[in-house]
Amino acid sequence: MSRVSHAVAARPRALVVGGSIGGLFAARALRRAGWDTTIFERTGGLEGRGTGIVTHDKLLTALRWVGVEPDATLGVPVTMRQAFDADGRVIGERIHAQTVTSWERLFSILRAGVADADYRTAHDLCDVELLENGVRARFTNGVTEQGDLLVAADGFRSTVRSLLMPAVEPVYAGYVGWRGLTDEAELVARLGSGFFDRFGFYLACSHQMVGYPVAGMGNDLRPGRRRYNFVWYRPVDDDRLRELLTDASGQVHALSIPPPLIRAESLAEMRSTAEHELCPQFREVIRLTAQPFFQPIYDVCSERLVQGRVALIGDAAFVARPHVGAGVTKAAEDVLALAQALDGAAEIGSGLVDYEQARLESGRQIVAWGRRLGGYLAPGHAMTMTPGETFDEPTPDAFMKDSASLEFLVA
Ligand SMILES: Cc1cc2nc3c(=O)[nH]c(=O)nc-3n(C[C@H](O)[C@H](O)[C@H](O)COP(=O)(O)OP(=O)(O)OC[C@H]3O[C@@H](n4cnc5c(N)ncnc54)[C@H](O)[C@@H]3O)c2cc1C
Repeated sequence: MSRVSHAVAARPRALVVGGSIGGLFAARALRRAGWDTTIFERTGGLEGRGTGIVTHDKLLTALRWVGVEPDATLGVPVTMRQAFDADGRVIGERIHAQTVTSWERLFSILRAGVADADYRTAHDLCDVELLENGVRARFTNGVTEQGDLLVAADGFRSTVRSLLMPAVEPVYAGYVGWRGLTDEAELVARLGSGFFDRFGFYLACSHQMVGYPVAGMGNDLRPGRRRYNFVWYRPVDDDRLRELLTDASGQVHALSIPPPLIRAESLAEMRSTAEHELCPQFREVIRLTAQPFFQPIYDVCSERLVQGRVALIGDAAFVARPHVGAGVTKAAEDVLALAQALDGAAEIGSGLVDYEQARLESGRQIVAWGRRLGGYLAPGHAMTMTPGETFDEPTPDAFMKDSASLEFLVA
């Protein structure tokens, strides 16, 4: 039993807002630290969504901490990275062992350890009231809940953050990432298994493409049933982004658009550009992808992680560009730091101070690293540049070494 739980006599209660990876990690880690936890998720359920996730040792450590022993069913092991030139020739190789999994796989592993009664869907938080020794949350369905702590795991558009720290907003980076999944069997039939089994990279001056294998539908890891995940980063200015975020009815969506609402002409433009901008292997990947979608790239950098009895974690706190490949790992590390700080503290308030101290600087560093990796893609994008700042295009070797790698943290 933690020192915090002794201090407040009964088991303290945490309201976890957001039921994605960060929220599930939070619920499980705090429970291990002696808390009662309830997750409140806005949607009706998140099963069956998402694409690829790169794992890191720190993520595996966090999984063990919350009671999950990662095994061979976690994902697809990849040992080699390869960079291609415009004609598809291999121009660089690098040994880099890493397991690549899918958002769906991680979600199902973590969700399995949370009882349905503690995971309430269709709860859209709309207000937070800071109390002297606790917090009250209100939801659009009329429900009000009170706890000793509220964990904001509600993602990059966090309602909690916008209520408590309205000055912190996602800042558009000037480019988007087109993403999608292709069936292994079809891809291997066209390109052979040597391409599918590796982390692939294609670099050109104004864009970059990364791809890797992940589990198939229903987390199927059998050869032939897996899928290939890609992210193609392309510069898109603010006016064009607004067009891309406009659906067929003319509605402009803020920040991102649900994949089914992306207009046919946007998809057609992306597909035709791929035919002359990508190397042959990645052209084939795009041709075979039934439902590509795009994600505008944003930076989110919070100045505080704690206000009263509210703690921001995961994407609600900081969002680094996906080149870092660490959104899930960072969320897991935030949660571990929070649970351990609370567990070791004499009272909740001082535990929260310790949490903020532990994670504020690393959050800033990871966002800065993401800007360094992708900044050259939109050099003139005023919102993300400080005067005099420049970003160099990486060499293929640096691109392979630094993408989806946390080596910079120990450099
Ligand atoms: C469905 C889904 C699929 C994803 N797929 C991928 C992927 O394939 N690859 C990748 O790199 N990253 C993916 N992500 C993002 C990835 O999960 C995060 O970058 C990282 O794990 C940190 O997660 P998070 O839990 O902090 O935030 P998120 O994963 O963004 O989750 C935030 C959660 O909060 C909920 N929420 C938001 N507002 C409210 C509110 N007012 N009240 C209650 N709940 C609210 C959202 O519905 C969501 O479930 C996905 C996220 C989601 C939600």
